Amino acid sequence: MSMRTFSYQALPNRVVFGAGSLSKLNEEADRLGIGRALVVCTPQQTDAAEMILQKLGTRGVSICARATMHTPTEVTQLAIEDLLDARADGVVSIGGGSTIGLAKALSVRTDLPHIAIPTTYAGSEMTPILGETDNGIKSTRRELAILPATAIYDVELTFSLPPALSATSGINAIAHAVEALYAPDGNPVISLMAEEAIKSLARALPAIQRNPLDREARELAFYGSWLAGTCLGSVSMSIHHKLCHTLGGSFDLPHAETHTVVLPYATAYVAEAAPDAMAAIRRALGKDGSAAQGLQELAKSVDAPTSLEQIGMSEDGLDRAADLATSNPYWSPRPLERDAIRGLLEKAFKGERPD
Ligand code: NAD
Repeated sequence: MSMRTFSYQALPNRVVFGAGSLSKLNEEADRLGIGRALVVCTPQQTDAAEMILQKLGTRGVSICARATMHTPTEVTQLAIEDLLDARADGVVSIGGGSTIGLAKALSVRTDLPHIAIPTTYAGSEMTPILGETDNGIKSTRRELAILPATAIYDVELTFSLPPALSATSGINAIAHAVEALYAPDGNPVISLMAEEAIKSLARALPAIQRNPLDREARELAFYGSWLAGTCLGSVSMSIHHKLCHTLGGSFDLPHAETHTVVLPYATAYVAEAAPDAMAAIRRALGKDGSAAQGLQELAKSVDAPTSLEQIGMSEDGLDRAADLATSNPYWSPRPLERDAIRGLLEKAFKGERPD
């Protein structure tokens, strides 16, 4: 990519960021003409959803606590019934990528406005992307109508995010930024955001492990996650996200942990083909050694898993994973070769130091 030849398309969503920004919820609902809101959450976050319902006052109609991993369409169908029963004219989601995914599925099917209130670092609130599972098969689509109209980032909601999930969710966000740096449709604005995202998260995550209530670190991590979500929403992802999609979908590995383990190896795989991206990652991490090694050291420093074995992958599955990952060719800075990908997965399985 030449610095002087690029396309840049800003996404038409609204972002309200900052400690206490939840106090602007009703103002934001007014802006979108929401008079009857359905609040969406997981069964684990009903307390947070109750708090949102209270804040919405008479505008808050009811809670749909059905969100679950991978957005199964049968769950969405039940949630549509909740939406109709509530005669809702808008959706407010509070939670991580799973919750925001269900609210996206509702909003795109009904054309109702969606306010997303993220509580993890996954970044879904900033993207026009929806992954859904139908009959056990997960597929992903990108459509502007999927993008939440408004995202409200209030750091107060992130103190309860457990340290282990804070670490892996934060590295999940870093992965969006890493891939944005070598995206075929990348551009200078997104590259600036990506480098700043990695820098912010790399500083914040170790501080959060030391003290999960560190306000400054939590704010910096949320800021990095907003930037990373913008990267994910704006440009194409490649080898890393596809590998994680295969491993998550076909081997039922946990989302954020899989991203955390795979990222250093995917980065090493493309390193020679993407030198500018590697330089940006190294600058952002501020560490010696390769970009891939720096990313793995960051994972180690926050006690995150570093091998596929640790997160439940079986060695028997590596051949099939390599076949699946290379069966649908897609763009990558370094083309996907079956044997090289098998090698990558082997290293990731064992948690070896990447090149
Ligand atoms: P998650 O939404 O599955 O949340 C994990 C668990 O943590 C849930 O039980 C949730 O209720 C709980 N939780 C979340 N925030 C909390 C908090 N602050 N305090 C206490 N508990 C909290 O996890 P995730 O990593 O945010 O999302 C992963 C899912 O999102 C995956 O299915 C992934 O594919 C999807 N995703 C989609 C996009 C997109 O653009 N479409 C982007 C990123 C992730």
